[in-house]
Amino acid sequence: MKTLVPEQILGAIHRIVGTPGVKSQSADMARHLVEPRGLYHGQSPLVVSPTTVAEVRAVVELCHGAGVAIVPQGGNTGLCGAAIPSEAGGEIVMSLDRLNRVREIDPLNYTITVEAGCILAHVQQAAGEADRLFPLSLGAEGSCQIGGNLSTNAGGINTLRYGNMRDLVLGLEVVLPDGQLWDGLRRLRKDNTGYDLKQLFIGAEGTLGVVTAAVLKLFPKPREEVTAIVAVATLTGVIELLSRLRLASGDQVTAFELLPRFGIDISLLYVPGVRDPFATRHEHYALMRLSAGRANSGLRDIVEETLGQAMTEGLVLDAVMAENESQVRDFWRIREAIVEAQIPAGGSIKHDVAVPVSRVAEFIERANVAVEALIPGARPCPFGHVGDGNVHYNVTQPTDMDKQAFLDRWAELNAVVHAIVRSLNGSISAEHGLGRLKVDEITHYKSALELDLMRQLKRTLDPKGIMNPGKVVRV
Ligand SMILES: Cc1cc2nc3c(=O)[nH]c(=O)nc-3n(C[C@H](O)[C@H](O)[C@H](O)COP(=O)(O)OP(=O)(O)OC[C@H]3O[C@@H](n4cnc5c(N)ncnc54)[C@H](O)[C@@H]3O)c2cc1C
Repeated sequence: MKTLVPEQILGAIHRIVGTPGVKSQSADMARHLVEPRGLYHGQSPLVVSPTTVAEVRAVVELCHGAGVAIVPQGGNTGLCGAAIPSEAGGEIVMSLDRLNRVREIDPLNYTITVEAGCILAHVQQAAGEADRLFPLSLGAEGSCQIGGNLSTNAGGINTLRYGNMRDLVLGLEVVLPDGQLWDGLRRLRKDNTGYDLKQLFIGAEGTLGVVTAAVLKLFPKPREEVTAIVAVATLTGVIELLSRLRLASGDQVTAFELLPRFGIDISLLYVPGVRDPFATRHEHYALMRLSAGRANSGLRDIVEETLGQAMTEGLVLDAVMAENESQVRDFWRIREAIVEAQIPAGGSIKHDVAVPVSRVAEFIERANVAVEALIPGARPCPFGHVGDGNVHYNVTQPTDMDKQAFLDRWAELNAVVHAIVRSLNGSISAEHGLGRLKVDEITHYKSALELDLMRQLKRTLDPKGIMNPGKVVRV
């Protein structure tokens, strides 16, 4: 590929980071240039992987001077094309995977200070070794990085109890688009000294600077966990059950996921090792985890009593509580299998939406009707983190429809589903971000004023527009 980035800039980057820090051969760069679902394939002359903050600064300063655009990249597990360069080939990719030290754990302050390239699972493990919990948990935790989690404001299964990434950060260190270093690595729980600048960079998807390190909050490690899978009579009942469990347990529900029958059916069909949780088929299932700080805390009795009462009233149809670790894994395996099984099940049109928790059932029921009216026979697979109002409202193609013909209706179906989300004052991107996928669509869902404020922010921090151009907001 003929490079659009001047050769002398590529050479200077090479000199800053040394040979181990650059990739320029197609085979070496391949994994950095394709989005996980294959939706975007970018081009770039170079992937640079700094090992120190000084190297990050030097590369950014050089690119700023030369007007060369940079695409920051973590584990490249993001689902909206935000970490992929454009097809034009004029942007370099900055992979943070070698900037990956745990700088400090402070157990008494309940904090851990980590560099952006640390893999999420490693941070969880480091916290665990200090008898602490870092609660962010999601399907890609074995490969996504803290910098990516911060930049997408990742959510995952524990948001209900611990919040999303935005709630889990006390301080940040960021290399700004001109190469200056903002050291905001504070470890304070109280600091009312003006604008909370770190929040600008969280969820910014790499458009305002390169995050190099963060101070993250830790929590007491739970000593007892109760996991259950429950068949519920109605979608409204799923949310009612969540509310009852929160009340009865004193808010000890950490995860509460919706599993639809269609998702279980395709999992049984396509993913080896998945077992139907009950002998009888039901329409709606909730997978839940509650946790307590003390073993034998009585939590199990509380869950049993609450489910028993709900069963007497007909709200719950069947329930099983995990007796051991292997059963816990089996239950969560069903949840993961629903994601995997959608691939062999055919074309799937995705929505990652949020509505108020109290409107989740209404949203799904209205969306199901609208989808059937638009594409008869299309099979909704609404699943995910309903405990915090986030529904992955995916729709699998009708069995007798051509896959491409179905996928060609992506925008049309999105418009129908997102109109319902808007009518409920919801969000069209609950946890995955905007990236390239929704950069234009979001203009229909935010006010002109809000979009203008976002553009002003972008121009203020990145006047040359070199930081991840074409993502989040067009300037
Ligand atoms: C199987 C699977 C399950 C998933 N489950 C969830 C889930 O439950 N909840 C959820 O929220 N997401 C989920 N995701 C999406 C994804 O894992 C998250 O968005 C994750 O936070 C991205 O991290 P990453 O390191 O892979 O970032 P990348 O994909 O590499 O990058 C994402 C964005 O962050 C920017 N970025 C990365 N590092 C930096 C940095 N150091 N400085 C500045 N910008 C940076 C990139 O430019 C890009 O805009 C899932 C993905 C997969 C594949």
